[in-house]
Amino acid sequence: MKKVNLIIPCYNEAEALPLFAEELNKTMNSLTDYEFEILMVNDGSKDATLSVMKTLCNKDSRYKYLSFSRNFGKEAAMYAGFCNADGDYVAVMDADMQDPPSMLPQMLSILSDGEYDSVATRRVTRKGEPAIRSWFARQFYKLINRISDADVVDGARDFRLMKKEMVDAIVSMCESNRFSKGIFGWIGFQTKWLEYENVNRIAGETKWNFWGLFKYAINGIVNFSESPMSIASGFGIFCTFLSFIMVVFFFVRKLIFGDPVAGWPSLVCIILFVAGLQFLCMGMMGKYIAKTYIEVKNRPHYIISETDKENVKKIN
Ligand code: UDP
Ligand code: MG
Repeated sequence: MKKVNLIIPCYNEAEALPLFAEELNKTMNSLTDYEFEILMVNDGSKDATLSVMKTLCNKDSRYKYLSFSRNFGKEAAMYAGFCNADGDYVAVMDADMQDPPSMLPQMLSILSDGEYDSVATRRVTRKGEPAIRSWFARQFYKLINRISDADVVDGARDFRLMKKEMVDAIVSMCESNRFSKGIFGWIGFQTKWLEYENVNRIAGETKWNFWGLFKYAINGIVNFSESPMSIASGFGIFCTFLSFIMVVFFFVRKLIFGDPVAGWPSLVCIILFVAGLQFLCMGMMGKYIAKTYIEVKNRPHYIISETDKENVKKIN
């Protein structure tokens, strides 16, 4: 019998988690050919999420929990799940029902046919989301696909079912600055995409505001592309070239027409423009250096303070 691990990152999901578990149980009970283990990761929740998890674990031995010492973020929660998953198939699912458990049977049957290594899901609509957010999201996907070699699919969810080999590859990518959408694409493997209509969160609130998403997007670009640096050097070369031509132009004009170089306003504009560019480029480089600094420190991705699962990597 194949074993399936479901990783559920949870941050303040006390309201949604019991509803999700109820729905998930229905699906799991219909899939008698598989053995399930649900790894709920409590990502330093400030509400009753941990006690809800413990109740679930007491009621049903398929449920296990890992509890972080503080909030490390969804990426860390997923990584902790991957590091401690020992099933043949592994999936990540949100606790808010935005990743419908009803899709699991179809995903399992596709994987067990053997043609694909993973089954991923993608929202085809962004119904219920502010229009401006959808627009920025679409632009982000266009940009990152153009400037990086990570194949990031528009509307892709983290909800995907993967074979063990793929999970091992993800675990081997131990970078601190994690951008899973990029990592999934970067490691390759045969992926089947399933499309579905966006589902609204069943209870509680989203943890993402606009600024949070913006930072996430910048993080994704910096992690998977060096293009911003190339653009910076491109600008540098362009400005140097332009200033050289201008020097020649003004020099010749003075010699032939005796025309003095007039006007400090234009000069101020040019100085401001170049100074602005320099700061921008320094900022871009600073981003990469900062990322390198974090990476070099090699701090653990997560710290587990409490769990009911055996042989867990508590720090990694
Ligand atoms: N989550 C987490 N740690 C965080 C933020 C979110 O583990 O710091 C979990 C959250 O509990 C949920 C999933 O990640 O199960 C997705 O979060 P959310 O629903 O807020 O994101 P959205 O679906 O709005 O993109
Ligand atoms: Mg959600």
